[in-house]
Amino acid sequence: MDYNVGINLTLLGTKGGPSLRGKGPSMMPTSSHLAIADKSIVIDCGLGVTSGLVNAGYKLTDITHIFITHYHSDHCLELGALLHTAWTAGLSKPVQVYGPPGLDKLWNGFRHMMTFDIELRIVDEGRLPLDDMVAFHTYSDVNAPGEAFSIMYDDDLRVSAIKNNHPPIVETYALRFDAGDKAITFSGDTTYLDAMIDFAKKSDVLVHEAMLSSGIDYVVGQTKTGNEQLRKHLVASHTLASQAGSIAKEADVKCLMLNHLIPPEREISSDDDWLADVKNTFDGHCLIGFDGLKYTI
Ligand SMILES: [Zn+2]
Ligand SMILES: [Zn+2]
Repeated sequence: MDYNVGINLTLLGTKGGPSLRGKGPSMMPTSSHLAIADKSIVIDCGLGVTSGLVNAGYKLTDITHIFITHYHSDHCLELGALLHTAWTAGLSKPVQVYGPPGLDKLWNGFRHMMTFDIELRIVDEGRLPLDDMVAFHTYSDVNAPGEAFSIMYDDDLRVSAIKNNHPPIVETYALRFDAGDKAITFSGDTTYLDAMIDFAKKSDVLVHEAMLSSGIDYVVGQTKTGNEQLRKHLVASHTLASQAGSIAKEADVKCLMLNHLIPPEREISSDDDWLADVKNTFDGHCLIGFDGLKYTI
């Protein structure tokens, strides 16, 4: 393993939840990118992941790996469209796609929906068969709860996972990427999780989802059908910024990056609001995620 390998992290979409409500620094749902050695890795495929990658300067044809944390639409809605668009851009090597059980259903549904176009382009434009350009790998928790397990590893990279707590979804994971002596951990969507402390231990960056308690009423009100059920889901399934700070402190991470922001609108939750909440528990380096944020380790 090359211990000097660098990691370039880009947050492509930093808004929590599937809706689009207007322009702003955190406009698009969840997706991120890691450039490690010769790998181009996408983590989650919320709406906008394809244009986000291109805007960040990455070639779709260079994508080597995709990891999905769970199947809420704000994390997987654009998986099929991303692979299809990379294919039409000239993909020539299979993309290795990793996700919890259900990956085949997601892909087969998309594949079925686009049969006409895919078959036409192969015959009419001489495209390579799309199915040869994707390889799927399902991962699932095989250990005791709270125990990390390996998803993939090679000379440059080790990817491990831990089941997080995001009810009512059961197959939902946090992911950790270790490359040489560097590490980045993504919390995925989860409530406060004790096991995250060990899992994220001494990461260079912990990309953690975050919710601002003072913004919950606003989010519930925005749905129009706004109801107590949504409020219950938010409280039962997500982490307050101050709790993310406490995990960052206990895990002794070098940088806490807030992501999957609820609410994402800075008029409601300014950077100062987020930082004030985090400061209650963590006095280290903290960045508030925004679409397009780049960070080099
Ligand atoms: Zn989400
Ligand atoms: Zn979710």
